[in-house]
Amino acid sequence: MATTSKTTATKTSAAKTSAAKTTSSAKPAATPAKKSSSSTAKLSGLTGKMKDSEFHEFFVDEIKDIYWAEKHLVKALPKMKKAATSPELAAAFDKHTAETQVHIERLEQVFALLEEKPAAKKCDAMAGLLEEADGIIEDTDAGTMIRDAGLILGAQKVEHYEIATYGTLKTFAACMGHSEVEALLQLTLDEEKATDLALTEVAEAAINDAAVAE
Ligand code: FE
Ligand code: FE
Repeated sequence: MATTSKTTATKTSAAKTSAAKTTSSAKPAATPAKKSSSSTAKLSGLTGKMKDSEFHEFFVDEIKDIYWAEKHLVKALPKMKKAATSPELAAAFDKHTAETQVHIERLEQVFALLEEKPAAKKCDAMAGLLEEADGIIEDTDAGTMIRDAGLILGAQKVEHYEIATYGTLKTFAACMGHSEVEALLQLTLDEEKATDLALTEVAEAAINDAAVAE
């Protein structure tokens, strides 16, 4: 049973470097290197036209959507860790739980930069993906590599959803001239990509073959 997505499995060697680069620190920085004291001044240049624009409102709504998604994911990942058998997979879930907490904090910084109150708006996609992950746990036996392979499948679907979301939102931020917001979203995007690749590596190292043999 090949559960790992082909798209993520192809560029393993190039990816290894980037994964190592982006995930090497145990506790990722919540803030980009340069935190702005000038952010308010910069933003005030945008507030007139940008803040009232329909696109700005749409952008903020989508930030609320991913904020909801991250807040629910951070609760689901420990359950996925508990359900995992392989210590490598459990460690990957653990690491990404800590990163996800930082993703939430970064989104709170994004709200502040946009002069908006942090608010979560239900993300139907993440709700569905997490329901699916629950279903995988229900449908598989504890202590099996089939379950671990399934958990990786569920987790990679989540990561791909996040990669799509952050990739587009950071482009929107760039288009609107929100460079600090763009930088924050880029940091998270890099960690989502690294997580996806790390999950591929864990799957390919042993779990998929062991699942086939069960
Ligand atoms: Fe995330
Ligand atoms: Fe993630």
